[in-house]
Amino acid sequence: MDNKTNIRNMAVIAHVGHGKSTLVDSLVAANSRGVAADGHVTDTREDEAQRGMSIKSTGISLLHVMDIESLQAYKGQRDGNRYLINLIDSPGHVEFSSEVTAALRVTDGALLVVDCIEGVCVQTETVLRQALGEGVKPILCLNKMDELFPGLQVGRVKPESPGEHAYNILRNVIENANHIMAANKDEQLGDVQFCPHNGTVVFSSGLHGWAFRLTDIAKKYASKFRMDESKFVKKLWGDHFYDRTTQKWTSERTGPGNCVRGFVYFCYNPLKRIFAACMSDDKAELWRLCGKLGVKLSDDDKKLPGVALVTCVMQAWLPASTALLEMIILHLPSPCEAQMHRVDKLYEGPLNDTYAQAMRNCDPEGPLMLYVSKMISPSQDGRFLAFGRVFSGRIANGMKVRIMGPSYVPGLKNDLCEKTVQKTFIWMGRNQYEVEDIPCGTTVSISGLEEYITKSGTLTNEGKVDAWPIRRMKFCVHPVIYVSVECKVLKDVPELVEGLKRLSISDPIVICSAVKSRSCTIAGAGELHLQICCHDLQGVFMDGTKIYISHPEIFLRETILGESGIRETKSPNGQNRLFMSAHRLDEKLVKAIEDGLLGPRTDLAARTKILAKSGWDEGLANKIWCFGPGSFGPNMVVDMCKGGSIPNQVKETLVECFQTASEEGALAEEIIRGICFEVHHVLLHDDQKYRHTKNQLIPMIKRAFHESQLRAKPRLLEPVFVVEIQAPESAMDIIIGLLNQYSSNILQRFEREGTQLITTRSYLHGGFLVGFAEAFRAATSGQVTPQCVFSHWGTMSSDPLKASSLTGQMVLDIRKAKKMKELSVALKELEL
Ligand code: GDP
Ligand code: MG
Repeated sequence: MDNKTNIRNMAVIAHVGHGKSTLVDSLVAANSRGVAADGHVTDTREDEAQRGMSIKSTGISLLHVMDIESLQAYKGQRDGNRYLINLIDSPGHVEFSSEVTAALRVTDGALLVVDCIEGVCVQTETVLRQALGEGVKPILCLNKMDELFPGLQVGRVKPESPGEHAYNILRNVIENANHIMAANKDEQLGDVQFCPHNGTVVFSSGLHGWAFRLTDIAKKYASKFRMDESKFVKKLWGDHFYDRTTQKWTSERTGPGNCVRGFVYFCYNPLKRIFAACMSDDKAELWRLCGKLGVKLSDDDKKLPGVALVTCVMQAWLPASTALLEMIILHLPSPCEAQMHRVDKLYEGPLNDTYAQAMRNCDPEGPLMLYVSKMISPSQDGRFLAFGRVFSGRIANGMKVRIMGPSYVPGLKNDLCEKTVQKTFIWMGRNQYEVEDIPCGTTVSISGLEEYITKSGTLTNEGKVDAWPIRRMKFCVHPVIYVSVECKVLKDVPELVEGLKRLSISDPIVICSAVKSRSCTIAGAGELHLQICCHDLQGVFMDGTKIYISHPEIFLRETILGESGIRETKSPNGQNRLFMSAHRLDEKLVKAIEDGLLGPRTDLAARTKILAKSGWDEGLANKIWCFGPGSFGPNMVVDMCKGGSIPNQVKETLVECFQTASEEGALAEEIIRGICFEVHHVLLHDDQKYRHTKNQLIPMIKRAFHESQLRAKPRLLEPVFVVEIQAPESAMDIIIGLLNQYSSNILQRFEREGTQLITTRSYLHGGFLVGFAEAFRAATSGQVTPQCVFSHWGTMSSDPLKASSLTGQMVLDIRKAKKMKELSVALKELEL
């Protein structure tokens, strides 16, 4: 860990089912003898094994001794040939992508795994974009290569001209991935396009434990062809054809049969011959091929049948772990390299202060800067460790640290505390290995902080009051769906409260509301995510106590389309007056706030710049009082008062009331989005006794927020999802029928070249989400699972203040369910 140039922190990312956990298994298997026999090493939860799907990210650290010869061409800094690889296996299902975000925050590189038949899917794109957004360098793994060889698997490919066909399929994946990279370029990362001949692409079969890079093949043949390895490798990708008759290379295929593409001739065909020999039990041919390739098998191995024999030969020839680990070491940055450029993106404080410098230099002697990206419960006993990354300094057992929570704003005292670390650990799948201290540049698990960190936070040394926090993570999934949970008996309420607290810690995005009269709500990213949350709540965090769980419902948002004009509101005694207006915030600004670029921690210069782009006057940047809900939400209050300043009593009360008003909008107590409230004038009675905060000011301010929202053309927003479905052509009729049933019109439909798979993309309105995925699984016997990715908040066009409209009816229903006042009564009170 002290040898920073020889550390690689990396995450394995991919669409669900593309083979991440299987690949990680093959890496771990090569690294240690005692691999768990039941399921993947990184799928440590019982339900992960049962569902055959990763749910939580899992870390595992490997030590790899690199072949000296392979290191010769390496130009980066290094110290010897022993490497520490801190690897995180992440879940691929969209609903768990907050786990991916948390993993990427603490790593510097990512192995993007793509099932070469299914190609680049919706979640491949999401995770790749996320990696680039975090400044994490990706490398590409084209997995399930075994499926490209007819006869070896039940094929998902059309079996015509297998070699050329396989090449086209693979090329297409690389092109699609590079396309996404080009569209999401990160200036500081530079050119990170995937390129097979420079070694940033590996071709693998995680299931059979083999993998190769073009450089591995070049190494075997170059000398035979009296060519430089670096020249030979270039012939193995692209339009380079080898003419067997003349033994010359051409850039065109001159005649059929004689000229074969370099990739097909040197990479694909040798594998094909081995597979054919194994599968047809042609042992004589197989031993001849093994002899040529220098592959030696034990006598026992030689007796293996079919696929087992393939696996054995291939692992001896091209072991997956060697190709993958070498690629990770050679092409992913060390923490020293990565932190140099990542600091600008990560740190919210001045980029030249001691903390930024220490992180940039990955300085173990500097102040501690550590980001906790998630809380983990490796033994699933309800106890938590904080998992994160040390960016500078060192963390040690028994050390006192300053914890800046996600809502902490420098200079204020909120979400801030100083506590003592109990112990530090290295995360090893099911186990945690205790160590005395951990220097910067690596990942760490810490005990003793579960009471003080809810989901994430920045740690520094005690007393370092001038340190700024590391930027909050930006998640690409949102808690848009919820269930109500209720205890059967009153005496169980304290246990429910405790259980909810633990559930809230355990998941990066789940939101648990406060418990009111035995019940509360739990919000998550989708049905599956909520199922897992409820399962954990009941089974792990509450010890089986009986609770009722409702059907899931979709969250809505409230917004406005127009302007309210300045309204005057009086306090109940008529002695105080407030002038307020509401108008819609420009969508660009709303996005900037949601992306964490504009908020309470953004300095004045950056604020001014962002606001100017939306046409705001320069002077207004320091007039924003607050953001909300939760201090970081996409609504704000701006001080437009001319002349004298507003008394602090009013300002503080106003900010508090705004937090509530933005969390519980005037229409249906849903969260509001995209509203800017302006305070124009406040007139208070001189005598303190006429301006009592609770009795006079709060009712006045509340009313002002509600009135200005409702007078500005209020509307409901619904979440809109992009649905991607990949299925064999034969299932298309069923799929189109179902999509119609759910009012989901197909936007895009394309066939994956050379495969029998069709992909469709369509929008799905929030109201149709519940039960959608299940309907497809049921209709296709579980073969087709649609992936629904949150896309945007869509405005529902009808007027929610009209009881006869669609949204009007929705508002009435929600108000009834929430036991709110009738809308007509509320409107009358506001004289609307
Ligand atoms: P993850 O969701 O990305 O972690 O995927 P898993 O590693 O759990 O694998 C998903 C499925 O794909 C499992 O059924 C695996 O057996 C299968 N699989 C994984 N790797 C390969 C491979 O290289 N070839 C083939 N044919 N199947 C694979
Ligand atoms: Mg997995």
